[in-house]
Amino acid sequence: MLRTLLSLLALCASASALAAQPATMRLDYLHSGNARDEHYAIERVVIEPLPWPGNLRQTIDQTNRGNNMVEVVDANTGKLLYSRGFSTVFAEWRSTEEAARVDRAFEESVRFPKPEQPVRVRILKRDERNQFSLVWTADVNPDAMDVVRKQPPAPVKPIGIRVNGPSEDKVDLLIVGDGYTQAEMPKFEAAARRLADHLFQVSPFKERARDFNVWAIALPTQESGVSRPSTGVHHASPLGARYDIFGSERYVLTTDNRALRELAQYAPYEFIEILVNNDTYGGGGIFGQFSTAAADNDWANYLFVHEFGHHFAGLADEYYTSPVAYATGGERREPWEPNATALRDPARLKWKKFVKAGTPLPTPWPKQAYETASRAYQKERAALRAANRPESEMSALFRRDLADTNALFSRDPHLHTVGAFEGANYEATGYYRPEMQCIMFDRSAAFCAVCADAISTIIDLYSRPEK
Ligand SMILES: [Zn+2]
Repeated sequence: MLRTLLSLLALCASASALAAQPATMRLDYLHSGNARDEHYAIERVVIEPLPWPGNLRQTIDQTNRGNNMVEVVDANTGKLLYSRGFSTVFAEWRSTEEAARVDRAFEESVRFPKPEQPVRVRILKRDERNQFSLVWTADVNPDAMDVVRKQPPAPVKPIGIRVNGPSEDKVDLLIVGDGYTQAEMPKFEAAARRLADHLFQVSPFKERARDFNVWAIALPTQESGVSRPSTGVHHASPLGARYDIFGSERYVLTTDNRALRELAQYAPYEFIEILVNNDTYGGGGIFGQFSTAAADNDWANYLFVHEFGHHFAGLADEYYTSPVAYATGGERREPWEPNATALRDPARLKWKKFVKAGTPLPTPWPKQAYETASRAYQKERAALRAANRPESEMSALFRRDLADTNALFSRDPHLHTVGAFEGANYEATGYYRPEMQCIMFDRSAAFCAVCADAISTIIDLYSRPEK
């Protein structure tokens, strides 16, 4: 009897602990500079309308991903209260040619459980040894007068697409629409459901589907679609997501972080994928920030999952034959990303637990034949875009390209081998990927074993196993 009573009391105590999620604090700051210098400045500290959606038992991030790390420490004791790795649009822009001659500023945010006491928010950045070192500190007092405590009522209600449990026990993925008119809201909801359904058909998301909640939210816009400046199309969409970021026709991002955060805060979220209401192939993904995908494109399923791989798990692009906005070449530093390596020391390959004894490193693959076919395909692709041909022709080209690659790879003995295949991270030489094929390499259907494992690690960080 006493035991029953005690366990009942324990149950009540844990239930009330669950109910007592702290508020969500957000530090909005400006990150500016150029290829040589960078500066940070506080914009505002905000208490978001919804409680902290995260698991309070896993406040410290030990996955060692991202260009940056945020640490929240107790201002008096120095105790580490919260940390997360992340990357930024600023860091991507910094690797473009423009950053050598122009200063630019980007809005960024870090979110953390509201502390009881003054804290120090520290932003760290990787140095040339790949270690995090401190670049900026901001003192945040949760009781300070200038903390924004009151938010306007939600402009729209979030839709529960898949709700499997309390937010603190689940990974909360928020799908945000941009470029949808009021009349197109049912279309947005249908796209969010369709793409979420697809995500959970791909391993390891498939096996871990119950560890996720998926929400959707969108502010209606006057005109359908988002801007695509390279074709003279400009729309005032609520989040300002657009094509042609950093001059790359298929690169879709928003640089209006404030608009994004001020809408997202009305849903529980840890990860964001923005759906743009367009059919032109395009997307983007920044680790710990957000990803984007063109919802109406024939390859939307692939775009949604590939870009989410960047955003969710910090996966590198394993491809190297498509043109990108970043300056490539130069020294081959070991990437922090879990699925690319400079292979300095094959004996210490970071994914060696997946490599069977006797696998040659580097691992041979039909690289030359692939590159010859890929060069021809990239030429066709550029010509289709230059002539502004219908999107269906581009989709058909992508289908042919994948079929050709599949045919070439299917004859190779290392088709499903985990090894080190040269060509990754936008470089034909000096960087290696774990398998011949992966969603991060081409438009194939599955993640390689190393990417799948890297995704599972992040699911573990944000969810709590069901009893
Ligand atoms: Zn992979």
